[in-house]
Amino acid sequence: IQGVSEVNIEDTKIRGKNLDVLAEFERSKPKNAANFVVIGHVDAGKSTLMGRLLYDLKVVDQRTLDKYRKESERLGKGSFALAWVLDQGTEERNRGVTIDIAMNKFETENTSFTILDAPGHRDFIPNMIAGASQADFAVLVIDASTGNFESGLKGQTKEHALLVRSMGVQRIVIAINKLDTVQWSQDRFNEISQQVSAFLTSAGFLSRNLAFVPCAGLTGDNIVRKADDPKASWYPGPPLVSLLESSKPVTRALEKPLRLTIDDIFRGGIQNSLSVSGRLDSGNVQIGDTVLVMPAKEAGAIKGLEVDSEPAEWAVAGQNVILHLTEIDTKYLKSGDVICPPSAPIQCVTSFTIKVLAFEHVTLMHCEVHKGTLHAPGRVTQLIAQLDKASGAAVKGKPRLIKPGSVARVVVEVDDPVPLEPGGRVILRAGGETVGAGLVE
Ligand code: GDP
Repeated sequence: IQGVSEVNIEDTKIRGKNLDVLAEFERSKPKNAANFVVIGHVDAGKSTLMGRLLYDLKVVDQRTLDKYRKESERLGKGSFALAWVLDQGTEERNRGVTIDIAMNKFETENTSFTILDAPGHRDFIPNMIAGASQADFAVLVIDASTGNFESGLKGQTKEHALLVRSMGVQRIVIAINKLDTVQWSQDRFNEISQQVSAFLTSAGFLSRNLAFVPCAGLTGDNIVRKADDPKASWYPGPPLVSLLESSKPVTRALEKPLRLTIDDIFRGGIQNSLSVSGRLDSGNVQIGDTVLVMPAKEAGAIKGLEVDSEPAEWAVAGQNVILHLTEIDTKYLKSGDVICPPSAPIQCVTSFTIKVLAFEHVTLMHCEVHKGTLHAPGRVTQLIAQLDKASGAAVKGKPRLIKPGSVARVVVEVDDPVPLEPGGRVILRAGGETVGAGLVE
């Protein structure tokens, strides 16, 4: 395509092995890899629960935990020690650039997991959108203690659930948490499960994709081990970690063209090269490949790569990777850009039509377009039709206003071209609120 920069492979002395990556992948008998986001109301116990999971799986050791415990006691917040486990690493991974998505990894026998996003961070929604767009499933944490469930449902619980659904997440594991505060009441668990289930199915989740577990992150009951409180003996099912494991492996879009949305850009790879990290949405890459960064149309070659922070020769869709690139000037790169093959670059557009689920009133308005780590100022410039929620058929042409909860087809424009293709998912935000979630048509 026009305007592509030249890459002189001879100069860069990269010798790729020209592997048949798909055959290599088959041979490697990979572990299932699953990415998930953790959602739920503030104080539902998300950080504590994830800290407990990592601790009980021995990803974090006692010494580290003791260190956090001391620190949090010094600040008068003893119970927060487990929650702090999750935040470690954010600082340690400081490579001179801000990292939007804190990553935490752990493995069980069959699966290697990545927890996307850092729950509890203040500007949570944009981070969560970035995380949700890469997630295979979500863990919804619900505070079962009296009163808190009810206020959580009015609060972020519903918004988060709608958001992850509109980002394409289909499966949710629901941790009904803090059951120790209600003496492991089975009635309370049933009542909450029913309400949450009713809400999630109305938001478009299939009931067979929902799994519920009664648990307490603080004490570790039904997280990695089964609850040892006798009051919890009515629950015959598996602990949380088994429900995570039984999440089906993703169908990997291996044979589609390469697409990697850049999360982060840093220097410090091979010979201090320019490196980018992100998840391979589709396709595959190997050392020696020439790639194109869109929308800048800058070409570069892959000098080296890492999969899950280990050096590798190739990577396939679904994996979290770091690519070490030949010199591309950082001024051409930003997070949210997409890496593609020169033979099949992603389209970059300034105007596109979406089917949008409105969370707030949507009308001709300024908004911010979010796609993963991409944020672009834009506007809704045309309301084409209001659609029937179930069938998607137009029920009303040229509406003046889209009410919360309705679905419509609208045109969005942005100032600078953004890489977007049909099937891509975007979020519209205005004034710090999520106004809608859209599917690019
Ligand atoms: P987050 O905002 O969802 O990440 O919530 P935190 O993990 O920070 O927890 C909020 C508060 O709930 C803290 O004081 C925790 O100690 C407490 N908490 C978390 N899990 C449990 C639990 O299973 N039982 C009880 N009783 N308290 C919990």
